[in-house]
Amino acid sequence: MYCGRPTCVYRCIRGQFEHYLEDGWEISDRYERAVQDPEFVEITKEEADEHVGQQRLRIKLGTDPAKWPTHCLVPYPKEFDAQIDLVAQALDVVADNPSLARELVLKVDSESMKRWYIDVALRSGYWRAEHSGMKGVEEESATPREMISKHQLDELFKLDNWRCGYCGIRIGGRRERFEKFAEAIDLPELVAGSTDETRHGLRLILQASHDHIQPLNQGGSNNQDNLVTSCWSCQFGKGDHSLDALAMNKPIRGKWEPYESWNGLRFEC
Ligand SMILES: [Zn+2]
Repeated sequence: MYCGRPTCVYRCIRGQFEHYLEDGWEISDRYERAVQDPEFVEITKEEADEHVGQQRLRIKLGTDPAKWPTHCLVPYPKEFDAQIDLVAQALDVVADNPSLARELVLKVDSESMKRWYIDVALRSGYWRAEHSGMKGVEEESATPREMISKHQLDELFKLDNWRCGYCGIRIGGRRERFEKFAEAIDLPELVAGSTDETRHGLRLILQASHDHIQPLNQGGSNNQDNLVTSCWSCQFGKGDHSLDALAMNKPIRGKWEPYESWNGLRFEC
């Protein structure tokens, strides 16, 4: 159950009331007082998520465009690097010791990745568009989307050193890589789920695609120079907004150096 007032949200988890403060849920001793407030109402989980997302974006980005990064929407949490290191270690050992690889992947905090993706990353484009003070470009009719082959996609990832061209996070690659890896370590939940809430956090953070730097519905083309490797956070966070509307600079091909020996969810077997 979720409920709240305009300034605070509460949830009841296993009979315990918590409220959302600063950057996390904490046990609340204010619930009894809060229910006395005439504005206190029951809200949906989506409304509670919206409130949490707004709070986290306020802390992460704030409303002053001069203080925002210009290369990406919102920097990913630094602790994700250590989480992805666990995956890198798992890839190193998977051929000889798949059960150790599985254990390493199970140590990843899927839930915190998922919450960041849903609450913060997916809302970041709307947040920036709303507070940037920049006018978006008028929408035009979209250029027909040509299918990009798996080979072309892998080539694009290689050119961008297997890192998101915006935020620089290491990327795992296409869905097929996750499927192969999930099978090798016997962890089907890595590729299960058809909604963000049911997908594994690693997949939300590491799966990548190509992003149209200039959106198709604003005259962008399918040419290679209009494509950039993008993690889902940056791609779906950006949505159909133009870089101008988001107060962002154009990404630069190969901007991010190779990250040690990382080249996606590749492993020998
Ligand atoms: Zn990214």
